[in-house]
Amino acid sequence: MIKAKKSLGQNFLIDKDIINIIADVVEIQNKDILEIGPGTGNLTSALLKKNPKKFIVIEKDDDLAEHLYKIFGDKIKILKDDVLKIEENSLNDDNLIVFGNLPYNISTEILCRWILNLKNNYWFDCLVLMFQKEVADRIIANFDTKNYGRLSILSNWKLKIEKVCDIRPSSFSPRPKIDSSLLLFKPKKDFYTIQNPYNLEKITRIFFMHRRKMIKKPFNQLFNGNSQIAERLNIGLNMRPQNLNYETYYKLTDEYEKLNS
Ligand code: SAM
Repeated sequence: MIKAKKSLGQNFLIDKDIINIIADVVEIQNKDILEIGPGTGNLTSALLKKNPKKFIVIEKDDDLAEHLYKIFGDKIKILKDDVLKIEENSLNDDNLIVFGNLPYNISTEILCRWILNLKNNYWFDCLVLMFQKEVADRIIANFDTKNYGRLSILSNWKLKIEKVCDIRPSSFSPRPKIDSSLLLFKPKKDFYTIQNPYNLEKITRIFFMHRRKMIKKPFNQLFNGNSQIAERLNIGLNMRPQNLNYETYYKLTDEYEKLNS
């Protein structure tokens, strides 16, 4: 009997309908699959039935890795490791379809890391990821809404994001206290060129430090009060951070890079 470890964010999916919805989000026959945190393997089983070509899983919990080996043997390749320690770009395979009912305590860290380290040749074909609903709402939020912020701006830079469904606590064992949402991420073909994505991270961090205050102070801090940039981007310094749309933040990052090159 597997006992869930809270420290590893273990809430196992037990709802067959939801498992089937996840397995049907994209066509996986003959594709390469990576599953993050397969846990007891309920989603893994459903995905294997779709006849993928190659199947790799990353599971940090030694007991679960052993359990998975007993169930699936050589049908899957098990990497007993921490997903945050894996160099994802080394998995370089633009065909890779990534699934993950991510451990909630590190879900934003995983996503931000993957986005900030994205190379021009993506290491995946798409990502099918589950987050706590509150985090998913921030990822897909548009400007001028209360959920809009750094996570929305970073996530929407190079990725097209679609919500698949919300998932109730009763679909898991043990039951989490919160609702979850499943998101599908696909690479964008057109996106703003940014030399160093950590500059986008820096700009959004400084702008959203005080989300209710006017942007005058962070703007002046980053752009030495250069009013031409504000005019060029049509920004009023009395606006609040959430009033600037995604593109404005990408353009601001470009201006920042030009100013500091
Ligand atoms: N996918 C399974 C399911 O839906 O039933 C389990 C999901 S559970 C929310 C998260 C899984 O991620 C657990 O199996 C946990 O052990 C694993 N995990 C937690 N932290 C991890 C990490 N840093 N690297 C890899 N796996 C991790």
